[in-house]
Amino acid sequence: MELKDFGKKHVFMPDATRGAVRFLTTQQLKETGTTAIVTNTLHLLMSPGVERMEKLGGIKKMMNWDGIVLTDSGGFQVFSLIHSGKWKGKVHEDGATFKSPLTGDVYEITPERSIDIQMSIGSDILVAFDDCRKTDLTRKEAEISVDRTVKWAQRCKKQFESVYGGTKATGKLLSCVVQGANYPDLRKRCAEELSEIGFDGYNFGGFVVNDKGDLVLDEMAAVIENTPSDKFKYAMGVGKPEDIRRASKIGYKVFDTVLVTRNARHGTLYSSDIEGEVLRIGNAEYAEDLKPIDSRCDCYTCQTHSRSYVHQMLKVGEATGMTLATIHNLRYYQNLVQGLS
Ligand SMILES: [Zn+2]
Repeated sequence: MELKDFGKKHVFMPDATRGAVRFLTTQQLKETGTTAIVTNTLHLLMSPGVERMEKLGGIKKMMNWDGIVLTDSGGFQVFSLIHSGKWKGKVHEDGATFKSPLTGDVYEITPERSIDIQMSIGSDILVAFDDCRKTDLTRKEAEISVDRTVKWAQRCKKQFESVYGGTKATGKLLSCVVQGANYPDLRKRCAEELSEIGFDGYNFGGFVVNDKGDLVLDEMAAVIENTPSDKFKYAMGVGKPEDIRRASKIGYKVFDTVLVTRNARHGTLYSSDIEGEVLRIGNAEYAEDLKPIDSRCDCYTCQTHSRSYVHQMLKVGEATGMTLATIHNLRYYQNLVQGLS
């Protein structure tokens, strides 16, 4: 897929957090039909670090990946790690300062720094640094988050344009994150103010499901309705197959979720043969089942191995079991998004 066509058709991006989709080689990843991946700015910042990353020619060269790379801004991880108390750090008006639990080094991420790090990683699609917070925000908190997100997005765009020459000179895309928690009118305001600044794509930020696990469709629609129709729309962290179908109906084209690969490793596979699409391969009923995971799937796993083999390999903790399960789940999602109209 050409970068200029990104988001015109539906696309699902698996997470290659540290530069690999767990248990897959880059070749295996390509064979699932994956054309774009998400990598994690915060993790790559800490290891291998910006300097080494640049020396090695960026993430695409390191991975030998000729598809598209989207980098997150680093905001979501750093704020959730600080807010949950897992990491020592401080969120402030300019971003966040924190201590690496690996080395004890102190880092600061600001909007400008986030763009610089994403450029060093060699990203194709950058995400503006946003003020991402916990769920169930009060209106006041959500307003502060929106104001800060817009202000930081402005600074990111300025950095991208003044230091690097913007989309024109780099051929890269800069997207932004729309915040506003569970207040459709705040989502609308945030979307309008970000559209005023102008980005190549608009991402739905914060929590995309409510406490019942249902998509927050009103808030999601507010973002679609108040951003330019010719720019891509990315529903970050969506999600389950039926949620992807629902979000695509209201106009979202770009999706990612850690669930696909994480579920694979835990034996939760997807199959159109099963009602509800979920096949728990660890169940005893699959121990001697010689059928493929999904009779309609064209992936390596389904073409080559049975449910019983994947069941057994995962049961005894063989890495090959993880590989086979991950290949299948990714192919299932790629087939799912390709089938969306
Ligand atoms: Zn398969």
